[in-house]
Amino acid sequence: MQSDCLLHIDKHHIWHPYTSMTAPLPVYPVARADGVMITLSDGRRLIDGMSSWWAALHGYNQPRLNAAAAVQLEKMSHIMFGGLTHEPAVRLTELLLKVLPPSLDKVFYADSGSVAVEVAMKMALQYQQAAGRPERNRFAAIRAGYHGDTWHAMSVCDPVTGMHGLFGSSLPVQYFLPQPPVKFGGPWRDEAVDPLHRLLETHGREIAALILEPVVQGAGGMYFYSPVYLQKARELCSAHGVLLVFDEIATGFGRTGKLFAMEHAGTVPDIVCLGKALTGGYLTLSATVTTEKVADTISSGAAGCFMHGPTFMANPLACAVAAESVAMLLESPWQERIARIEAQLQQDLALAAEWDAVEEVRVLGAIGVIEMKAPVNTASLQARLVAHGVWVRPFGKLVYLMPPFIITPEELAQLTGGLLAALAEEYNETL
Ligand SMILES: *Cc1c(COP(=O)(O)O)cnc(C)c1O
Repeated sequence: MQSDCLLHIDKHHIWHPYTSMTAPLPVYPVARADGVMITLSDGRRLIDGMSSWWAALHGYNQPRLNAAAAVQLEKMSHIMFGGLTHEPAVRLTELLLKVLPPSLDKVFYADSGSVAVEVAMKMALQYQQAAGRPERNRFAAIRAGYHGDTWHAMSVCDPVTGMHGLFGSSLPVQYFLPQPPVKFGGPWRDEAVDPLHRLLETHGREIAALILEPVVQGAGGMYFYSPVYLQKARELCSAHGVLLVFDEIATGFGRTGKLFAMEHAGTVPDIVCLGKALTGGYLTLSATVTTEKVADTISSGAAGCFMHGPTFMANPLACAVAAESVAMLLESPWQERIARIEAQLQQDLALAAEWDAVEEVRVLGAIGVIEMKAPVNTASLQARLVAHGVWVRPFGKLVYLMPPFIITPEELAQLTGGLLAALAEEYNETL
């Protein structure tokens, strides 16, 4: 298809994420992607700095993942999960049990991260109901959090930058805690959990669960906070009969330098949500994993079961690729790779911290963030980034990198070099 025809149909008939249908930002037609390279339809090649939103940790068109998909495709792409089971789901579950804390051992598969969050919230409500506490039907969450775009997931996203204003009274009202005021790597202060303490003292009896993104708040602001907060939150939630839900959809599978961000704290939640990198970025799949206690309590309740069952639950194709992706990650020297990416991001991005337009540069694991003082002009900056041969998608004040773990030092140098060159042009800085 001619690129102008493609762009015409796209512009007039296809929604893009958070994009106006009347005044859309430009989109770039992509022809293929291999390893860390994205090839646009006009032949330009870009180094991928986004891993397609935290997902493609092994890069694109990966031979082993392709083979896993092809083998499964020959057997069955999908089969209903009601009354049937299959090896891809069981193999993936075995791997997840191996990498998650031992108490998290009941796995619910669904189609996307947002649905994993809905499932976790429903689990928390059904658990409290079955435990004889039906009045516990609200949630606590942290400001500047992001948990997805579906209805109840949206209700626990940041109430200001999220969509609360827009959807108003049709969203359930939840309790919001301030962002933990203790940065990752900074000194801990006990006052950081005072708001949580006070909330649980005053409203604990109405709250089913506290949901948060451990250590790294992603789409809500790319903020890194002290793991000690998680330890304290665990103690307080347990003391008040409130379940603790960790949304590891962005942080899971190595991105922060640990296989799961909760490992920075050694804290285990009652429910964890996984998604994004679960399939290595190949297909959409999520898992909500809980404890025997939660699962057994739910199963002893009025309904006698957990009330959820998506059509594409545990899709065999997605599970087969996910199992292969997790196995590949575990076999790879991922700790060394991420440590190397972290060190190089710290070194390469440091220069930008001196620029007038830059608020802060921060790096954790394979995540590098340049926070600007004001929102960027996405269309203009994006065009410069593409011209410099890199694929980076800024949002708001945040320009950030989270490359596939397989990126080589040379490719990463090209990525950070392209990013800094584009920013320097945009803000009249010199390199
Ligand atoms: C992306 C994300 C979600 C939502 O996942 P989708 O697959 O986009 O529905 C939920 N929580 C966190 C932390 C995320 O980063």
